[in-house]
Amino acid sequence: MTKETSLFEKLLKGNAAYAGKANKAKLRELAKGQHPYAAVLSCSDSRVPVEQIFGAKEPGEIFVIRVAGNVAADASVLGSIEYAVLHLHVPLVVVLGHTECGAIKGAMKGGEMGHIATLLSHLEPVCDRARGDTSKAVVLNVSEQIRAILDSSDVVRAAHEGGKLELAGAVYSLETGKVERVF
Ligand SMILES: [Zn+2]
Repeated sequence: MTKETSLFEKLLKGNAAYAGKANKAKLRELAKGQHPYAAVLSCSDSRVPVEQIFGAKEPGEIFVIRVAGNVAADASVLGSIEYAVLHLHVPLVVVLGHTECGAIKGAMKGGEMGHIATLLSHLEPVCDRARGDTSKAVVLNVSEQIRAILDSSDVVRAAHEGGKLELAGAVYSLETGKVERVF
C-alpha cells in the first residue's frame, strides 16, 4: 500500500465515522436546498476550520469560500460570493483573516514563483503599508478584501447599499480560538 493510499484510507475512515453518526433526516432535507445564514471568505489554512470556530452544529449553516490569504481577487471567489448573495440570499458576508497567516508572511518575504507568486501579489500592497508588521497586515488585508469585493461586484454592492447585506471583517486568533471583529 502506498503512502497516498493509506492517507486516503484515513480520510475514508473518517468519513465512515461521520456518515455513521450524521443526522440522515437532516441530510435528506439539506439535499433539497441550502439556506445558509452567512457566507465566509476565509484562508485555506488547516488551522482555521470555519464551521467549527463559529459553532455551526449542522451542515448547511455557513457558505464557506476558502483561499490562501482570504483574497477576493479572482472571478471564482467573487462569483462564489455573488452566488451566496444573489441566489442563497445570505444576509451576511464575512471576510475572515487569521493570526500567523502564512500567505501574509510569504508576501512579506517575497521570492515565490508561479501561481504562488501571483496569489501573493494581491497581498503585497497591504504588506507594504504594514511595514513588516504581520498582525497589522492581516487586519489591513481583511478591510482591503472587503473593499475589493465592493469595488468588483455590482451584485454585492447593490445588496449592501439596499440594506439587505451586512459586510463584516474579522480576525481569528490561532492562539486563543477567538474571533475579533475588525471592520
Ligand atoms: Zn492564512
